[in-house]
Amino acid sequence: MSEDRIYADYNATVPIRECAKEAMMSAYNICGNPSSIHKDGQKMRKILEDARKDLKSALGLYNNELIFTSGATEGAQLAIESAKEMGFENIFINASEHDAVFQYAQTKWQNINIIKVLPNGEIDIEWLENAANIEKPLIIIMAANNETGIISPISRLSGIARQNGGALMVDATQAFGKIPSHEFAGFADWLIVSSHKVGGALGVGALVLGLGIDGARNRPGGGQEKSLRSGTQNTPAISGFAAAANEVTKNIDFESKKIKAVRDEFEKQLKNSFNELVIIGEEAKRLPNTSCFYIKGWSAEYMVIALDLAGVSISSGSACSSGSVKVSRGLKAMGLNEADAKCVVRVSFGYKSTIEEAQKIVSIMLNHYELMKSKAA
Ligand code: PLP
Repeated sequence: MSEDRIYADYNATVPIRECAKEAMMSAYNICGNPSSIHKDGQKMRKILEDARKDLKSALGLYNNELIFTSGATEGAQLAIESAKEMGFENIFINASEHDAVFQYAQTKWQNINIIKVLPNGEIDIEWLENAANIEKPLIIIMAANNETGIISPISRLSGIARQNGGALMVDATQAFGKIPSHEFAGFADWLIVSSHKVGGALGVGALVLGLGIDGARNRPGGGQEKSLRSGTQNTPAISGFAAAANEVTKNIDFESKKIKAVRDEFEKQLKNSFNELVIIGEEAKRLPNTSCFYIKGWSAEYMVIALDLAGVSISSGSACSSGSVKVSRGLKAMGLNEADAKCVVRVSFGYKSTIEEAQKIVSIMLNHYELMKSKAA
């Protein structure tokens, strides 16, 4: 990050990795459309297919169809269209799904069941086991929540979905690169991932189809990606995505341990500094990088602005729909009241974060808090 700022918003986007930049630059040195049959086109085609192989290997899904997209938003839309075409009508979705998934699902199905969550943010598995005990249920779920970092029990959910010929759609945008892929990838019938969340370029993603799943076919256009997603592939960016995904996959144990140490130090300092602190999902299984919390009465909007002015980037609510501080569906579903929900902020660390940065954020917060209190007195 720039020397004088602290970036702690990795769940919004991750600084691009050097290996991704190198892969992209090397692809940019070639001019060719991967669909052209001449040698230049074929050079680009090789880069594209190598990236596909590498990304499948990072996900551990060697035999699946992997479709490159413009990001998780498009991946989710293709997945939902495919599920609709395959005749799934009994839909179960988590209230905290990203708008990319939640809103698009609402355009396709009128009667969607909202999955119950417990006050700690975990899915109410017993409720879901009963409710989804119907013909061909489709469970749509995030592998990890973008706001709270809470991890979904994907293997259990796949068991519930499959009991009556159903299926599981997994938005792994936040989980990929933060927890090992084997914890979620192989259980999904549709798996959605995004490049910029692992340190690749913005505006690239992938949808992986489970074995036996048909993609939504015959979309109008040039017929790229076996007609599952027409449009010339952004091959340099795709190549960077694969490079970033491979690097993070190789280093995941080391990186996640290091990042968790930063997050844990941050929360330790928060607890030492603020009595009115509530950490959301603290007791649940969480991503190692995410801290979602509120300090009673301290509006998220003010905290984000105060920290920004002091050189720290964090976010309130879902950063992807940032600019507005609307109360998130997910927090409401956890039973948080409106006043507290409006105070919730998310600090998310990543591969460049340091313990010193975590400590500095808390000390800036403390200074600001004391200033606020003295003004109010
Ligand atoms: N799904 C989740 C869980 C996300 O966190 C995001 C973005 O933050 C998206 C989907 C959308 O991703 P993209 O920006 O690649 O379209």
